[in-house]
Amino acid sequence: DHTGQKAGRFMLKLSGEAFSGGGGLGVDPDVVHAIAREIAAVVRDGAEIAVVIGGGNFFRGAELQVRGMDRARSDYMGMLGTVMNCLALQDFLEKEGIDSRVQTAITMGQVAEPYIPLRAVRHLEKGRVVIFGAGMGMPYFSTDTTAAQRALEIDAEALLMGKNGVDGVYDSDPKANPDAVKFDALEYGEVLARNLKVADATAITLCRDNNLPILVFELLAAGNIARAVRGEKIGTLVSD
Ligand code: UDP
Repeated sequence: DHTGQKAGRFMLKLSGEAFSGGGGLGVDPDVVHAIAREIAAVVRDGAEIAVVIGGGNFFRGAELQVRGMDRARSDYMGMLGTVMNCLALQDFLEKEGIDSRVQTAITMGQVAEPYIPLRAVRHLEKGRVVIFGAGMGMPYFSTDTTAAQRALEIDAEALLMGKNGVDGVYDSDPKANPDAVKFDALEYGEVLARNLKVADATAITLCRDNNLPILVFELLAAGNIARAVRGEKIGTLVSD
């Protein structure tokens, strides 16, 4: 169980795809506002929340590579896409009365602070949401890996992976196979050995080696972020 007496500090990984609101591309402000409301509620209850958002609603480097682009350059495009998601979330958090800071791994002083881990921790202690943008700033990595690394560096107690349209980890794709079975709990090794869709292997390995629990849950179900923070039995918990 990842909850203690106090509300605790959590890393929330948000699916970039969810931000598009089903359109696949771009940002749906209504969806972002709904997510911001949920985050605001848990912050008001005393939880410290750091956020990493994917960029799949703009660009994925691997997909552009298949279309003939240079991988590293398209990965940078992917990273820049995540920053737009960060700014959208920051805007709606502000409208909910919650202070936030965006910190990016690629410096862009007009819109965000640079990634400074100790400052991020200080923001969290003051009740500000910290949103990490531009991934790790390095091609060939994912925002899942970024979320795991940042979670470790700020000493979060769990990585809460909010997914788009699936409520946990299944033994096969539940959209393709109606008999797919959902796991309540999994070990890191099982996720890796069976290549289950939790996050990429780099992210899972990082969590395993540092014993960081991962909760995979449906992001857009109302109240789910609060349930995840409270440690309720939703989704799938990956630990050792
Ligand atoms: N990316 C990267 N390095 C990082 C994080 C992200 O190169 O540290 C790029 C990569 O091209 C990736 C894209 O940014 O495909 C968007 O992130 P991701 O695919 O993780 O988004 P999600 O699928 O979670 O929406």
